[in-house]
Amino acid sequence: MRPDILNALFAEVDTLDGVGPKLKKPLDKLGLTRVRDVAYHLPDRFVTRRAVQNLDEAGEGEQIVIQLTPTEHRGPRNPGRGPHRVFAQDAIGNVCALTYFGRASYSAKKLLPVGETRWVAGKLERYGDMLQIVHPDHVLEEGGESLQRLCEPVYALSEGLTQPKVAGLVSQALTKLPELPEWIEPGQFEKEQWPIWSDALKLAHKSENGSARDRLAYDELLANSLALMLVRADNRQRKGRALVGDGSRIGKLQLPFPLTGAQERSIREITEDMGQEAPMLRLLQGDVGAGKTVVALETMLVAVEAGAQAALLAPTEILARQHFETLRDMARPTGTEVALLTGRDKGRARESILMGLLDGSIDIVVGTHAIFQDAVQYRDLGLVVIDEQHRFGVAQRLQLARKGRRTPHTLAMTATPIPRTLTLAQYGEMDVSRLDELPPGRQAIDTRVVGQDRLAEVVEGVGRHIDKGQQAYWVCPMVRDSETVDIAAAEARYAALKERFGDTVVLVHGQLEPAAKDAAMERFASGEAKLLVATTVIEVGVDVPAATLMVIEQAERFGLAQLHQLRGRVGRGSEKSVCLLLRGEALSDTGRKRLALMRETQDGFRIAEEDLELRGGGELLGTRQSGDTPFRVADLEQIQRLLPVAHADARLLIERDGGLSSERGEAARVLLYLFERDYGVQLLRGG
Ligand code: ADP
Ligand code: MG
Repeated sequence: MRPDILNALFAEVDTLDGVGPKLKKPLDKLGLTRVRDVAYHLPDRFVTRRAVQNLDEAGEGEQIVIQLTPTEHRGPRNPGRGPHRVFAQDAIGNVCALTYFGRASYSAKKLLPVGETRWVAGKLERYGDMLQIVHPDHVLEEGGESLQRLCEPVYALSEGLTQPKVAGLVSQALTKLPELPEWIEPGQFEKEQWPIWSDALKLAHKSENGSARDRLAYDELLANSLALMLVRADNRQRKGRALVGDGSRIGKLQLPFPLTGAQERSIREITEDMGQEAPMLRLLQGDVGAGKTVVALETMLVAVEAGAQAALLAPTEILARQHFETLRDMARPTGTEVALLTGRDKGRARESILMGLLDGSIDIVVGTHAIFQDAVQYRDLGLVVIDEQHRFGVAQRLQLARKGRRTPHTLAMTATPIPRTLTLAQYGEMDVSRLDELPPGRQAIDTRVVGQDRLAEVVEGVGRHIDKGQQAYWVCPMVRDSETVDIAAAEARYAALKERFGDTVVLVHGQLEPAAKDAAMERFASGEAKLLVATTVIEVGVDVPAATLMVIEQAERFGLAQLHQLRGRVGRGSEKSVCLLLRGEALSDTGRKRLALMRETQDGFRIAEEDLELRGGGELLGTRQSGDTPFRVADLEQIQRLLPVAHADARLLIERDGGLSSERGEAARVLLYLFERDYGVQLLRGG
């Protein structure tokens, strides 16, 4: 049970004034469903602006405050497509466009009547040969002078939200913060001179405050380390069972290839663990295509040889089905019974599988979460393999695997190559096996960095590619705090490519209805459509071997891990594949190095390690939203600097007070609930 002291924080977001059904949706999209989430919706950055008399005084890319007089409103040529532009003049007759996308267009009409002077605050940019401000932060009738003295937070938005609206909700949420007991170790707290928790949150919304941000990040890291350690400690106390194979089934396998050295080593490490009585907690890391499935199969066969059953948990139905078919075919010569169980199975078919699991006639079951529902009973479950696509909540899933009197061995698999420091953060004290060697004979993906100014040539290249009957991806960037603009850009690119290539182009982005998205994906997967334009949401499990060209626009705006994952979509068939990274003109030094690294290597581990190095150098833009880590508050640099301390502190606390019953232990429980790592607390109760 969550401590009462946190109730106000965990109240639904619509308990804040002004939040009704209409606002709930865009807030939901940002993951802001409770007061707590709003308080923790920290600014992506801060702006300070300069007041200018006219546009000649302002630089491109600068944040400015200026008086402008609208002269004309011009809507999109096709309603609903393209932006609404308000042309406006400064004091000496220079023209600038104020550009609005989507629903924001309606407010533009009211805010900017033709012929009336207004204060406008925003970032001045160049679009073609025109100056423009996209979605001005403020439009005021008077009092604009004061805007230049403000240091304002810039929050991530979603369609339907504005900066002032989010800022208003944040300040309401901040009035509801309780005083919480201190969970940080007194020596550490003293040494760092950190603010107390509630002050830290307030400060972090007000200005760039390193100390406040550090404290909040540390809290999150400490919560994570504590929870993982509690899982580990719990695991040590549990009784498992040694599983040793006799080779009777593995000996009958007829694999069409020899195993790589990395696969053999991993199988050895895993089966050694399984031969111990203590339940295994091991992670198998390997890039897409590294050959994790065979490793899983052989270890599951060991469990079966030892007289137990094995289960493989997949994140989606599609992947469960794929795994099932592969494993069933490979296992056929061994006489092993493999079954599939998903939420979709009903009635007789389901009953018969449940029977088979209970009486032991099924050796291996593959499925989604359905395989751990209460109704599912095993005769003797000895090994659980978790194909971990979503990196979040590994520990929770481990808990799901706790069925039966004896704890089964657990093997988690991940395709995300993450640096060693982050492995610690994500998987705590799990043991790790790495598939750091790809099976032989893979074609390298020819990766090139191309200037955006050569767009026309790239489009022609895509044309030749399609003429040959092959398919291609065209990826546009999508960043949190410019979602509307990015989607508009993707739609514009789609429209232009459609003009050139006609109906063989389809578009997929996050704001499309699921049905429209599925239909577009379907057309591409079936080969009917030849070019898929997409924001980064290319769905998990997309596997189109005939797609051998990938174009990534504004590649410098992506995280390297993301680029690596995206590039992994091509190079799956026998044809040679090409990846074109288009870069903008204003490329930083680090940006240049990162793209060069992509060109140089296809080794996911190396990319991950060097990306961390490069980003550690202060280029933090984009790290928080890159989704590479299980953290929302701590960024990569903070993880590197603070995680080892948090980890050591968590260990010390657990050693001294494993039951979390001291005063500080109680505070730590509050922390675990605050960051929703409370499965750690549940374990304490379970004993
Ligand atoms: P992942 O690690 O992404 O799950 P898979 O297990 O799906 O990778 O393997 C990718 C492909 O490589 C499969 O077609 C598989 O049959 C093949 N493969 C796996 N191991 C080897 C190997 N040692 N030699 C050659 N091909 C292999
Ligand atoms: Mg796989």
